Amino acid sequence: MERMFWIFVALLAGILTGLGAQQNAFSTYFEDQTLRVDYYHVGTADQESIVLDELYRLDGWAGSRINLIDTLNRGHYLLRVFDNRTQQLIFSRGFSTLFNEWQTTEEARQGGQKVIHETVRLPFPRRPILIEIVSRDRKNRFTEVIFSRVIDPDQETIRKEPRISDVLVEHLIENGEPSHHVDVVILGDGFTSDEWDRFREQASWLVDTLFTISPFKEHRSRFNVSLVLKPSPESGTDDPRAGVFKRTPLNTTFNTFRLQRYLMTYDNRAVQDVASAVPFDAIIILVNTRKYGGGGIYNLYASTAAFHPWTPYVFVHEFGHSFAGLGDEYYTSQVAYSEFYPKGTEPWEPNITALLNPPSVKWQRFVAPDTPIPTPWGKEKYDQFNREFGQKLSELRRQGAPESKIKKLSREYRKKIKMFFEKNPYKEAVGAFEGAGYASRGLYRPALDCIMFSRTLAGFDPVCAQAIEQTIRFIAR
Ligand SMILES: [Zn+2]
Repeated sequence: MERMFWIFVALLAGILTGLGAQQNAFSTYFEDQTLRVDYYHVGTADQESIVLDELYRLDGWAGSRINLIDTLNRGHYLLRVFDNRTQQLIFSRGFSTLFNEWQTTEEARQGGQKVIHETVRLPFPRRPILIEIVSRDRKNRFTEVIFSRVIDPDQETIRKEPRISDVLVEHLIENGEPSHHVDVVILGDGFTSDEWDRFREQASWLVDTLFTISPFKEHRSRFNVSLVLKPSPESGTDDPRAGVFKRTPLNTTFNTFRLQRYLMTYDNRAVQDVASAVPFDAIIILVNTRKYGGGGIYNLYASTAAFHPWTPYVFVHEFGHSFAGLGDEYYTSQVAYSEFYPKGTEPWEPNITALLNPPSVKWQRFVAPDTPIPTPWGKEKYDQFNREFGQKLSELRRQGAPESKIKKLSREYRKKIKMFFEKNPYKEAVGAFEGAGYASRGLYRPALDCIMFSRTLAGFDPVCAQAIEQTIRFIAR
């Protein structure tokens, strides 16, 4: 018994020393402040480089002081920070960008060039650091260092003035210290100062919706949520195809990469400036429009049209992208990319697989022994429903049919799909269902249905849910 006691004491001491060492690592290398590194990401479909813009010192550090090295292996890029004297890795973070998405568009394939403004954030260093931005190669390994620079925390070029003024702020959910919680900031765009209440009400309702869905529901107490609005001179957002252009603080626009529903902003500096009104780990932009649209990029931001009937679904779906790096599981809608996932390479997204070594699958531990891999799910029938729906829809549109007819057709289609899913023998199973990541063949999703697959609030499949939980635990520790 006594021996057990001493083993217990030794274990406890070990854990405490371990924790102490991790916290020490933070205070050895970093201050409780943020270093914001702004840069331009420049290039073509197959070349990229980074040009430094500005460095900023900001108040506080919202991220974990314990989990400094990224263990999630998500995102197209990796920020690596080394102590410059010892070359020891002291911080890393995976992320994706609008730039790497643009590289797969038709414009890029036609030989176009692009420059996009971006930001990486890290705790403010006490001593000189070497920062690197590393890109994945065609095999999805982090091998290509596209930026490398020594930054001295004492250099006078680091700007220290507050980044923002004249914003309205409300702390919607407060559960405690930012470093031990996931801090989500919701930014309004295209809301005038008279529309603050409208923004506030819609944002609170959407946040309530998010926390009715697992695994967010179970982890609500690990979140802080704030609202920040820089009042807009004009109400609404840009809709280039309709010839509508509005002056708004975050410069959101439909038709990003010429895809109508892709509602994003290139004005990264404005987004970062306005978000800096509060400590944050994750950004959501709520855009003042009734049209359908949104977007979400891992560790950049999620954006959602605020007032469309599908807004609650879009809000949760896009946050799945931006917060946890989940991939799109659908393959039937039109997208701006061609061959987003190169053939023969396992995607880094936790919920999509190329199934290169069947029957082994990367979410193996969720798969029951009697579930076949790949999993049969009546794909031909589903594809036929979609083809028929698409044909009828374009026929109605061509005839100039009234909106009510189109709505009726959509209702019937959704009912049909719902019935089809309900009758499926593998509707509760985790397996490998072909059709995912904008590809009808060669990519597989973990379950028949998920928020990342269809426009329902049905919930996240177990693989997506685990990825979200891992992110929550990583940030909120
Ligand atoms: Zn999506």
